[in-house]
Amino acid sequence: VIKLENITKNFGSNEVLQQINLTVNKSEVVVIMGPSGSGKSTLLRCMTFLEEPNSGIVRIGQTEMKAGEKMNGERKRLIRSIRQNTGFVFQQFNLFPHKTAIENVMEGPLIIKKMPKEKAKAFAYSLLEKVGLSDRCDHYPSQLSGGQQQRVAIARALSMEPMVMLYDEPTSALDPELVREVLQVMKDLAKEGMTMVVVTHEMGFAREVADRVLFMADGVIVEEGTSDQIFSAPKEERTKRFLRDVK
Ligand code: ATP
Ligand code: MG
Repeated sequence: VIKLENITKNFGSNEVLQQINLTVNKSEVVVIMGPSGSGKSTLLRCMTFLEEPNSGIVRIGQTEMKAGEKMNGERKRLIRSIRQNTGFVFQQFNLFPHKTAIENVMEGPLIIKKMPKEKAKAFAYSLLEKVGLSDRCDHYPSQLSGGQQQRVAIARALSMEPMVMLYDEPTSALDPELVREVLQVMKDLAKEGMTMVVVTHEMGFAREVADRVLFMADGVIVEEGTSDQIFSAPKEERTKRFLRDVK
């Protein structure tokens, strides 16, 4: 579903991503870990062209884009297609504050998919039900807990029926007691076969759900393997040091 070839990204002289290659298969759950500043968020952002890579090729589903080319109509169309096929969930929930939960979830289907209002509403309701919030449809974000807001954000990302979900530290802004409910929703989605890339330091989640764990440092993928391999028998010194520090 995802294929990145030789992705590089510089901010000035800072080489944030160095020749990243990554393939994610259908229904695979890939967890990315690594120290602050190692390029995890930049990698997710480059996949969706929220950040333009300096070079390399991104393929999401059938859409393939070469980095660094001049912007034109065709390119804009490809970027739109990539964005529509990826659901992005951020650390901050990014909901529209003046819209209710269900209005937040309906927005994409209504505006972008041009779905009729009643249908969009029924679809949004089914997604809120899926994330355990069918009784909070008419609440505004300010009337919801952080965990509930993040679950609305997940439902909103799902509303575009993406081929892949990308999560950037989805639980790190939450109070500890709210982390579990969000991870549970992500686990359920994984079980249903959703393809996902998750930047998180939640080891329990990685152990239980990840098919593959990548360890990033200084813009490169230092090591990758199953969660058992990475957590129980890391090979690289930098991985070992990182795991010692986060425990
Ligand atoms: P964290 O765990 O703190 O979220 P991260 O692994 O997600 O870290 P990134 O946010 O990808 O790291 O940042 C990687 C490097 O790129 C850092 O050195 C950061 O300062 C730099 N960087 C990120 N975004 C920009 C930007 N828009 N302009 C300039 N430098 C940036
Ligand atoms: Mg980050």
